[in-house]
Amino acid sequence: MAKRYDLIIIGSGPAGLAAAIYAQRARLNTLVLEKEMMSGGQVLNTYEVDNYPGLPGINGFELGTKFRQHADGLEAVFAEDEVLRIELLKTEERLQAAELRLFGLSSGQDERHDLPEALVWKQVVGKRDVYQAKAVIVAAGATHRKLGVPGEEELAGKGISYCATCDGAFFKRKVTAVIGGGDVALEDAVFLSRMCERVYLIHRRDQLRGAKSLQEKVFATENITVIWDTVVERILGEERVRALSLRNKKTGEAFELALDGVFIAVGITPNTRPYEGLLELENGYIRADEEGNTSVPGIYAAGDARTKRLRQIVTAVADGANAVTSAERYLIEH
Ligand code: NAP
Repeated sequence: MAKRYDLIIIGSGPAGLAAAIYAQRARLNTLVLEKEMMSGGQVLNTYEVDNYPGLPGINGFELGTKFRQHADGLEAVFAEDEVLRIELLKTEERLQAAELRLFGLSSGQDERHDLPEALVWKQVVGKRDVYQAKAVIVAAGATHRKLGVPGEEELAGKGISYCATCDGAFFKRKVTAVIGGGDVALEDAVFLSRMCERVYLIHRRDQLRGAKSLQEKVFATENITVIWDTVVERILGEERVRALSLRNKKTGEAFELALDGVFIAVGITPNTRPYEGLLELENGYIRADEEGNTSVPGIYAAGDARTKRLRQIVTAVADGANAVTSAERYLIEH
């Protein structure tokens, strides 16, 4: 039989680690499942975090490590596994529960408070093992999105990267381009400008999306050149990237830009595929409110994987705390 917990937290980025800290303090019997051995999530790949209160300019790897150390200090339990799906119950048990409802068990009442005991347990199926808990917090985060142009797959790892802090050092005194206009693209451009000869920031519009403070840094950096209103049509190269085939959207002009490396920062895709069909999604994100409530009672969502306006470390951490508070209430009621 699968090992049982009060709470399973899926993911160990800022949301998952904050949830682990809160769950330990609430003395819940908790397991944190992490896909990779390295806790921290996307923050690990951020060179400088300038908007986490109290720690201006902290290195992302250091902040992620501090979150993990905090959870370790409270004796949080971690297991390395990749979640494939969450199951609620076998069909017969569900039918039985539905019959109970027919006999008035929950008619006219709030479902969340009246679930039969058998419906309460959630089974988390991983690649390595199966786990059960009454409450689950999905804090599975997000991963970088692909650009989807010819040459991207063929030249992956041969001059194309999705992580400037991981791969920037390979491009010392070289010419690179960053594609995108969001926070990540701007941060990457500034980071790369410290080691590259020139960095082109290629954006499809005439206005950047990223924070104004980052925009100011970009405009003030002598070796960053912004190429506006321009899309990448193809990444060119044989053994390695050698140029980009670009088109200006306003003028229609097509041109080539010779360079040594391309950093793609065109947004994120939430890691929510395992929950399709079980949880309600919106544009791929788990539909959840501020308290983390999803469409399934007892399953909560926190961090980048959930619907919300502001995806930052500080909001991920708040989500983790809120989700544990919701899970705790659910556990008291069940
Ligand atoms: P993002 O904010 O969604 O920005 C993606 C950028 O890529 C946008 O400028 C977008 O253009 C562009 N883009 C998207 N698809 C494209 C395509 N096919 N071709 C060309 N350009 C394309 O994503 P992000 O920068 O990865 O950030 C992800 C989330 O993390 C955001 O919520 C961000 O605020 C947050 N974050 C915050 C911080 C911070 O606070 N310091 C740091 C990192 C990340 P358009 O502008 O035209 O849509």
